[in-house]
Amino acid sequence: MVDRTDTTVRVVVVGSVNLDQVIEVAALPRPGETVTGGPVLRLGGGKGANQAVAAARLGGAVALIGAVGSDADSAALRAELAGEGVDVGRLAEVPGPPGHAVVLVDAGAENCIVVSPGANAAVGEAEVAAAREVLGAAAVVLAQLEVPMAAVLAAARSAGGTFVLNPAPVPVSVPGGAGGLPGELWGLVDVLVPNRTELEGLSPLDGSVGSVDEPVGPVNGLPTPELRRVAWQALALPCPRVVVTLGAEGVLVRDGSFVELVPAPKVAAVDTTGAGDTFCGALAVALAEGEPLAGAARFAVRAAALSVTRTGARTAMPTRAALGSAAP
Ligand code: ADP
Repeated sequence: MVDRTDTTVRVVVVGSVNLDQVIEVAALPRPGETVTGGPVLRLGGGKGANQAVAAARLGGAVALIGAVGSDADSAALRAELAGEGVDVGRLAEVPGPPGHAVVLVDAGAENCIVVSPGANAAVGEAEVAAAREVLGAAAVVLAQLEVPMAAVLAAARSAGGTFVLNPAPVPVSVPGGAGGLPGELWGLVDVLVPNRTELEGLSPLDGSVGSVDEPVGPVNGLPTPELRRVAWQALALPCPRVVVTLGAEGVLVRDGSFVELVPAPKVAAVDTTGAGDTFCGALAVALAEGEPLAGAARFAVRAAALSVTRTGARTAMPTRAALGSAAP
């Protein structure tokens, strides 16, 4: 186990810890149907925990703020994270089970997931307040939306450095909010990292932004109408720095009024599970090391591309050495 003290923590992840139970089935069941599947694979998961592991593998000094339950599964999840070098000293223990995700995967790699939040639902302002010091000292605080919004808001308020939000899963609209996020949160997010679906939920394109086919302006140089649409959607968000992940195409980076496509390297993809989590963890590490946004995105695109060449989420996350370069 790697010893991480408060003074060395540079990336703090605020998020979920789940036990994933994965069952392979020939075809996903329809409502009312029972199907027989393969053996149950039990894997450590949760977007928060996965992004913390991705960052730690890439050399980040990482602490995870969240909660596990009080049972043996929870103890195993905590131990696995500690074994990855993630500081779990501020991971709360609450009575009951940890979060669970039941994942059904069919022969075509299509999946169906049910998440039972368990201990993740207990993460609130108190758990975040207990970590205020480390949040204030971190270079980057990284959050997702698998823990309650009150915890995410509290983390954003306490973040001393760059606050990065991966808005996953994207929420339905909240009262007083724009695009499904509370208005206060929009004002606190330094970098937003949505995937294509999440961007669509947060920024439905309307007539108030530029035309998809606009040949000039910030979308100049983007090769397809679809990418120009993504660019206009990113430009319409009330957050000046946005990185939209686009699967095999790479990412689109919006920095103020400047938009740039960072293409993904061409790789033989075998399993894209966890690609987004690898990307977010890597981006946080590079930003914590002082890399500007576009450079950090380039580093994270390389890390995520490597992760899709191997099966599994955490098992596929690369180390810094595997990336073949010491600096982002
Ligand atoms: P999510 O898994 O959250 O839906 P994406 O599918 O957009 O996110 O993937 C996240 C990132 O992983 C992409 O922006 C890209 O950098 C990388 N990636 C995903 N799929 C591929 C692929 N087939 N080839 C190379 N890189 C990929």
